[in-house]
Amino acid sequence: MITLRNITKIYKKNKVKALDNVSISFPDNGFVSILGPSGCGKTTMLNIIGGLDKYTSGKLEINGVDTSKYNASDWDSYRNHNVGFVFQSFNLIGHLNILRNVELSITLSGVKRRTCKKLAKEALDKVGLQGMYNKKPNELSGGQCQRVAIARAIVNNPKIILADEPTGALDSQTSIEIMKILKELSKEHLVIMVTHNEELAKEFSSSIVRMLDGKLLKEEKVEEEKEIIVKEKKKKSHMNFFVSLSLSFRNLITKYIRSLLTIFAGSIGILGVTLVLAVSNGTTTYINKVQSDALSDYPITVRSSTKTSTQNNTYGKLEEYPTDKNILVTKYLTIYEKVSNIDEEFSNYIEALDKEKYTVIDYNRSIKMNIIKKTNNTYTKVYQSYFEEMTDNDIFMQEQYELIDGKMPTEAEEVLLIVDKYNSISETVLYSLGIDTTKEIYTTEDLIGTEFKVINNNNYYRLDSDNTFVTNSSAHYEKMYNGEGNITIRIAGIIRPREGSIYSLFSSGVLYTKALTQEVLKSALESDIVVEQLKYGINKDVFTGKPFSDSESLSSTMTVNYLYENRLIDLAAVAKITTVNIYSDSFEDRMFIEDYIKSYNNYGKSNVSYYDYMSSLQKEFSTFIEILTKVLVIFALISLFVSAIMIAIITYISVIERTKEIGILRSLGARKIDISIMFCAETLLIGICSGVLGLILSNVISTPINTLVQNILRENLSNMTGVNSANLVEYHIDQLIIILIGSVVL
Ligand code: ADP
Ligand code: MG
Repeated sequence: MITLRNITKIYKKNKVKALDNVSISFPDNGFVSILGPSGCGKTTMLNIIGGLDKYTSGKLEINGVDTSKYNASDWDSYRNHNVGFVFQSFNLIGHLNILRNVELSITLSGVKRRTCKKLAKEALDKVGLQGMYNKKPNELSGGQCQRVAIARAIVNNPKIILADEPTGALDSQTSIEIMKILKELSKEHLVIMVTHNEELAKEFSSSIVRMLDGKLLKEEKVEEEKEIIVKEKKKKSHMNFFVSLSLSFRNLITKYIRSLLTIFAGSIGILGVTLVLAVSNGTTTYINKVQSDALSDYPITVRSSTKTSTQNNTYGKLEEYPTDKNILVTKYLTIYEKVSNIDEEFSNYIEALDKEKYTVIDYNRSIKMNIIKKTNNTYTKVYQSYFEEMTDNDIFMQEQYELIDGKMPTEAEEVLLIVDKYNSISETVLYSLGIDTTKEIYTTEDLIGTEFKVINNNNYYRLDSDNTFVTNSSAHYEKMYNGEGNITIRIAGIIRPREGSIYSLFSSGVLYTKALTQEVLKSALESDIVVEQLKYGINKDVFTGKPFSDSESLSSTMTVNYLYENRLIDLAAVAKITTVNIYSDSFEDRMFIEDYIKSYNNYGKSNVSYYDYMSSLQKEFSTFIEILTKVLVIFALISLFVSAIMIAIITYISVIERTKEIGILRSLGARKIDISIMFCAETLLIGICSGVLGLILSNVISTPINTLVQNILRENLSNMTGVNSANLVEYHIDQLIIILIGSVVL
């Protein structure tokens, strides 16, 4: 039995007093009609009885229990097990067939699926809808829909059926049919019906309650209360998680186009974030790789001398990095500057460096070569000053120099001609090499293949009658040239500094291989003059026959050892160190090495200057990173913007659209948490789908992105090789998983 005592309901929002001190008791069964004009509070009262709404003051007793003691779950349980609602607008869930609509009510009470189906079918049969179980609400007439609603209201066998204008949307004939059903039900249930239709009320109901402005006007007596208090069914209502999941899944399927669009929209956001992450991974790896490559390929260099060129005026008008194969002869001066004294003391000092700090110490040496060139039938001595030993660090050579024509040396006898970025070479250099300088332009073909002879000591020096050695005069050049044991060297290719190269290690002239140094050294050590000199050591100068002695000049003193050492260098028995290259692939170690060299300068007598390629590289890296950051920020902004908008729209639409469904579920006794779970289940499904789709899309898109980033890099980093092959979009599995979870959370 339900009793309302002095119930007042005031809507705080608009301060409307919808119910004003209402007191009324309802019996356990029977058909009560509530009549009254629109807005008088009928629905409000029904909602309060059904537990859908809370009253402001007064008491509502259910079976003698004061409901002020009810908590939220008591109310949920009460609505689910004791009350069935029938609304004017049917309130069926459109994407479920009518059987599922009816089932929903008992699914919520935790009844087994099969029993649910059976009970739902029975309820539908009861309202005359046999065999229409699979129809969707929009395939039915209004009357049929209302029958479904009634079936849903009674499937749980509630004690009270609350009907709010159930015939309001129906024609009179259908209305009568519905009334008959309700009348029938009122034999076992309490039916409380709100209606406008006075005739129907009078014809079918056992009592009528009239209302006006929130107050009761008791007109006709409610039938004598039968005081049978049936024990209130009190079972907790709850919705199984899988029911939630299947509900939301069905909803997604029904609106599949919208769902797909939503998933797609969501995936764009995921896509953006994934790509930004992937690109940043890829480039970070790339930078690290380049950095360590650069560290290991670019040495700290200590040179004995540097060359600087002064150009004449016409020089500036020349084209840089021309594409033709002409070599121009220009007039400019090359100035040598001695910058470091690389002597034994220094090389010992460097050799004492902690082995952990460097990977390789590499020396470039210069060996004395007596070279003669034959042009037509004349023989000229070539000055060796423009011959320099080339580093055998191929990567360095390739990154810093480009081949204009010919090939890189593969054999000891092959040398390179090096010109400047204008494809020009100084007259002085050509002259020193014994090449005709009256011509102003050479083609590469003219120069490639040019041969020089490194004259064997045995041909160059001759033992005199007094058992001392003398140098053969220029009259003997032809004989020397054609003598035995000479090494013929040949220009195999012409190179110039690569565009954007950091530092020109070598300037115009001829570069020879380390292998040639070794060959010359070997042949010198076997030559008569060297054998003789080594045999006597400082005790005999093979040119004079007398022992070496200190020689004093105005400016300096040259010791015996120094003179002897120089003699061996001059006879090519020793190769003099010109450059020390120290390789190290860690940044900290480089710092250490630089400090080490600095401290030599502080303590040592002589001064060396060093050059670290990395310091120039550092500049390149900062531009690189700047560009990269810009690209990434743009990507991130776009993706964030898009996903933010999408998510806002989706949430908004979803809430707007589902309020009705939430209401229906609530009236069936679903707890608030059930509703939340249902929405969570739905967003979970969307989240997973869009996450997966996003990842797939980003995988598809990564190839063009890779090319794009590579192009950007190529434009800005001319001398960084490896950009083409670098994979700049890189996925990390753990990040992908986080993104997927993130997308679901979103
Ligand atoms: P009836 O069903 O008899 O037509 P209602 O019970 O729906 O009337 O409404 C009674 C009064 O309460 C009306 O004045 C209505 O404007 C007001 N009212 C109903 N529901 C709300 C609400 N949710 N918020 C504010 N006022 C409401
Ligand atoms: Mg109403």
